Amino acid sequence: MENSDAEVIAKITGLRKERNAVILVHNYQLGEVQDIADFVGDSLELSQKAAKTDADVIVFCGVQFMAETASIICPDKTVLLPDMHAGCPLADMITVPRLREKKREHPKATVVCYINSSAAVKAESDICCTSANAVRLVEKLTNASEILFVPDQYLGNYVATKTGKKMILWPGFCPTHIRIQPQDISRQKAEHPQAKALVHPECRPEVIALADEVLSTGGMCRFARENEAKEIIVGTEIGLIHRLRKENPGKRFIPASEQAVCPRMKLITLETILWSLENMTNQVKVPERIRLKAKAAVDKMLEGG
Ligand code: SF4
Repeated sequence: MENSDAEVIAKITGLRKERNAVILVHNYQLGEVQDIADFVGDSLELSQKAAKTDADVIVFCGVQFMAETASIICPDKTVLLPDMHAGCPLADMITVPRLREKKREHPKATVVCYINSSAAVKAESDICCTSANAVRLVEKLTNASEILFVPDQYLGNYVATKTGKKMILWPGFCPTHIRIQPQDISRQKAEHPQAKALVHPECRPEVIALADEVLSTGGMCRFARENEAKEIIVGTEIGLIHRLRKENPGKRFIPASEQAVCPRMKLITLETILWSLENMTNQVKVPERIRLKAKAAVDKMLEGG
């Protein structure tokens, strides 16, 4: 017989105390997973939380590169990813041999990698960034003669537009965010003329051009809290809507597209969390040689705030 959600949650509650575990949950996770979190946030906020936690175990409810980042920052802690199949297709669009080849073509380039990349790719990069601080960090690269931005071409293109810097872009993309089409934004704006349209910088430039604001998921949560708009069109993975509705009960949130679902994010369930906490399985540990090199890039991301 399957455990009911209430039973599963009670067991997770017991185990998280017993193991001194913290449950960090990305904004795109299932609603029921967000509801048991110690902290829900975007990649940057979750990395900052991981850096400060005094827990012995970090249960990372997100995708592989996020759990790896926690392991890079906190090598002494046990990092659990409840389902090892939760990878990020965008992160998989670049490999170390191909990156090295590109670096040989552009030996003077400063390599900026989006956090959505493997630890091994981070180790080959000069600076890591998230969608929340990419513009800020690239702006500071005043001495860089060339910038190679990997692996998301759309975030890279957005950063290039905002900073006016010439950048070499890796041709990667997020399969979930490219499902949001310009016509989705136009249709929702026509149906909700008072609404503000927020989109994530992983969206295509044609979608970004129609938005009122281009924000990370953490930025979208802040906007929803602080802006007086009562209706908001949300151009990102639809998991964020759960949090937005919960935090802003008086406001209306409209997904830009119901198609914007990341199947890998949804692999983490209450059952897989319980299973990994019970058995301490699915531990993510970045080898020390790679970790030390990747940490230098990740530290710059955290310093950039
Ligand atoms: S939403 Fe896109 S970038 Fe985020 S984990 Fe899924 S595939 Fe990767």
